[in-house]
This record gives sequence, C-alpha cells and structure tokens, in this order.
Amino acid sequence: MRVLITGAAGFLGSHLADRFLLDHHAVVGLDNFVTGHPDNIAHLVGRDSFEFIRHNISTYTFVAGPLDGVLHFASPASPVDYLEHPIPTLKVGALGTHNALGLAKAKGARFFLASTSEVYGDPLVHPQTESYWGNVNPIGPRGVYDEAKRYAEAMTMAYHRYHGMDTRIVRIFNTYGPRMRPRDGRVVSNFIVQALCGEPLTVYGDGSQTRSFCYVDDEIDGIYRLFMGGDSQPVNIGNPDEYTVRQLAEIVVAATGSTSPIEYKPLPVDDPKVRRPDITRARSLLGWEPKVDVREGVARTVEYFRSLLDSERMRPRDEPAPRPAPRSAT
Ligand code: UDP
Repeated sequence: MRVLITGAAGFLGSHLADRFLLDHHAVVGLDNFVTGHPDNIAHLVGRDSFEFIRHNISTYTFVAGPLDGVLHFASPASPVDYLEHPIPTLKVGALGTHNALGLAKAKGARFFLASTSEVYGDPLVHPQTESYWGNVNPIGPRGVYDEAKRYAEAMTMAYHRYHGMDTRIVRIFNTYGPRMRPRDGRVVSNFIVQALCGEPLTVYGDGSQTRSFCYVDDEIDGIYRLFMGGDSQPVNIGNPDEYTVRQLAEIVVAATGSTSPIEYKPLPVDDPKVRRPDITRARSLLGWEPKVDVREGVARTVEYFRSLLDSERMRPRDEPAPRPAPRSAT
C-alpha cells in the first residue's frame, strides 16, 4: 500500500508512519510544522519508502501517484496549542478534512479521520460510549477544536454516505509517550518536563478531574487495526484506566525521583471533569485492548524527555529564544 499521512511530523503521525513502514508499506508524509517537529521524522527522511511534503492540508493539495489510504492526523491537539492557533485549528478540522477527503476520493483511497474524545465535551455520560452525542460548548475556548472535529466527523460520514467512500473514524483519548513536544502544554509532558527540570508541577484546579492515559504504542496499534479492518462507525481508542490529575502528578514524581513541589493553578475554562473511554466496541470489532500500564508508559516517556534535557526544545514556552551570538568584528 501507499498511504498519505497528514500531520506526519507530529506525535501520533510520526509513530503511525513508522508502523506502516514496519509493515513494508510506502508512506507520503505531509506537515507544515505548526505543532509538528522535523526531529520526529528525521530517522525516516532519505528512506526509499518515505516521501515528505511540507504543505498545509487546509489549502489545495496535490499528491502525485496512486494512494490506497489517506490518514488525516494534522491538527494542533493540546488545549494550549489550539488556544494559541484557534483559526488554523478550525481550518484544519474543516477545510483540511474536506481537502483530505477530496484527495482520497480522487485516488479511490480509504479515508481515516483522527477524531477525539473532545467530541464528548464535558461528558454527562461516564464512561463514554460511541453512541453518546456529547456536551460541547460551541463558543467556549475549546470549541475551536471540539467543533472542528465534530464537523470533520460529519463531513466524513457525508462522504461515506453520499459518495460511498470507505471511511474510518477513531476517537482518540489522552495519549502520551516519546515524541510529544516537551512544552506542548499537555498534562503528561508538562509534569514530566517540570519534574526533570526541577520546576513545580502545575496542577490545574484541585486536581480531582480525571483522565485515562494511553501509551502511544497501544494507541497506534488500535489505530492501525481500525484502518486495516473496522467499519465506518466511530471507535474509541484509549486506555480505560482512570486517574485523577493529582494521582498522575504522584506517579510522575515517583518515576523521576524529583523533589519538585506541586503548585495549584486555576482550572482552564470548560475543562472536562471526567474522561474514560468505553472500549467495548474496539475489543469486539478489532480484538484490541491496551497493554501498557501507566507506570510503565510514564517510565518510558521519562527516558525520552531525559534524552532531550540539553535541547533547546525544553525551554519554557514563555521564555524568549536566546539571541544569536554577535558576529565577531573580524
Ligand atoms: N492539567 C494540569 N496541569 C498541567 C496541564 C494540564 O493539571 O500542567 C490538567 C488539565 O486541566 C486537564 C488535564 O490535566 O484537566 C488534562 O489536560 P491536557 O491538557 O493533557 O488535555 P485534555 O485532556 O484537557 O484535552
């Protein structure tokens, strides 16, 4: 197969590219580096079966040659990132999905949408099943991501129903692991980087809100199985083990041996109080369930961030980049 992955230099996109290449497929990666990073695909550049196109999928997109799959993973996905890029986030969910669907249709390719647990908003049903319609504030700060992804799901189903296209929708729950951007603002990366840098761990609110954290290898395995098998109805892929944010802080402190204190900060607007996937459908449809326990996954992720400790990528978001050294007068 030859597949196109949008957002290929991102956290999930780059792991997905690895997975297709491992199974001897060819991958065309596309990214504009809004939140992706060249380091994530540096090991792939130059390989025969990997091509890279630097391009914004929210604009007209041409890809030469046949494609068997189009996997649309491009989007800011951390709340801090989509608050910083609200309009590109809306555009990539709406216009980007439309362009990616149009490309898949022209090539006769299977289309795969990376959707999100955010379509459930601040959920009133717990755990969340795919049949739940969600509780989303369209005009709140998170609306730019949530509504774009909901629109993307609607657009995908319209292409499936109207054009008879072969489509998939995965609803991805909180996922973590190597290649997350160190300062992307998400809770796992924040806590680990803060712990390694000796900074306080920033717990928002009282830390009693819950999330369920899936290690990236498990998430990619579920996504790959859904692409290869599965059907057109949405599937939750995530780890159903639920933790409070405070518990996660304790796990990270234990994994790093850090002496960082906890610092409480205001809870962001519309921050969901609970989140946990019901994965009954993934289990029966794909024979999939996660295998990596959060303590094991956090330990592996700590090793990754440790390897970046001297990198300028660990610099806090609000700290200006160092100025280039002045040129010598000679
Ligand atoms: N959070 C936190 N401290 C941080 C970053 C996040 O307490 O430094 C909380 C956040 O308020 C939310 C949870 O951790 O309740 C997960 O946040 P994240 O940004 O990872 O993603 P979300 O699940 O909200 O999309």
